[in-house]
Amino acid sequence: MRRKLVVGNWKLHGSRAGNAPLLAALAAARPFACDVAVCVPFPYLGDVAAAWSGGELLWGAQDCSAHEQGAYTGEVAAAMLADFGCRFAIVGHSERRQFHHESDPLVADKAKAALARGVTPIVCVGESLAQREAGQTEEVVKRQLSVVIHTLGHCAGEMVVAYEPVWAIGTGRTASPEQAQAVHAVLRAQLQAATGHGERMRILYGGSVKADNAAALFAQPDIDGGLIGGASLKAAEFIAICRAAG
Ligand code: PEP
Repeated sequence: MRRKLVVGNWKLHGSRAGNAPLLAALAAARPFACDVAVCVPFPYLGDVAAAWSGGELLWGAQDCSAHEQGAYTGEVAAAMLADFGCRFAIVGHSERRQFHHESDPLVADKAKAALARGVTPIVCVGESLAQREAGQTEEVVKRQLSVVIHTLGHCAGEMVVAYEPVWAIGTGRTASPEQAQAVHAVLRAQLQAATGHGERMRILYGGSVKADNAAALFAQPDIDGGLIGGASLKAAEFIAICRAAG
């Protein structure tokens, strides 16, 4: 039985003053029947660690350098994330692929660097609207994932995968539960064939998940929780999504 996981992706949002009540509201809503995490901008990691350490709530970052250390201005290494108690690092989010031109091999190297420091990579894959309309969804997500599987080798079973159709992120347009389940089943079969651990690995869905559509998505057999953007910034909405996973 896979325990569900709901991860908030704050993206480029937040302030120290505004984060505190959000973190406090989530802590006050415990216990949850699923694992709950937030991936916050780097400068806030210390505040989340201070607010939540010792409890059941988890946190992480939205990116991770592929490098261990060195002359890479602006980068943040996995070891630094581990220093702040990060359990997760999102890698390969479509916004990074689009705006920072991150390639499949770079995403795979970031996932490897995270795992090497005990930080679980949440590896995002997903097709664009044009690719879906051209019938290329399966081919695109399998290609994205296969590069990561190959790079991680025998550690591939340790990652979390997030299926995030690009056309559903921040658009209010969600994949139907059936559309999402179909892709999740493809990804699980790929993970099972490649690693032998597909049945125990968690595959999250992301893309305009809200309190009112979460339960139907999470009820699908291969959807093990969600990666939540906009709705993770509102305490009541995010808590309702977490409850829908439980
Ligand atoms: C995301 O940022 O990963 C995401 C899924 O965003 P949203 O929930 O806002 O679509």
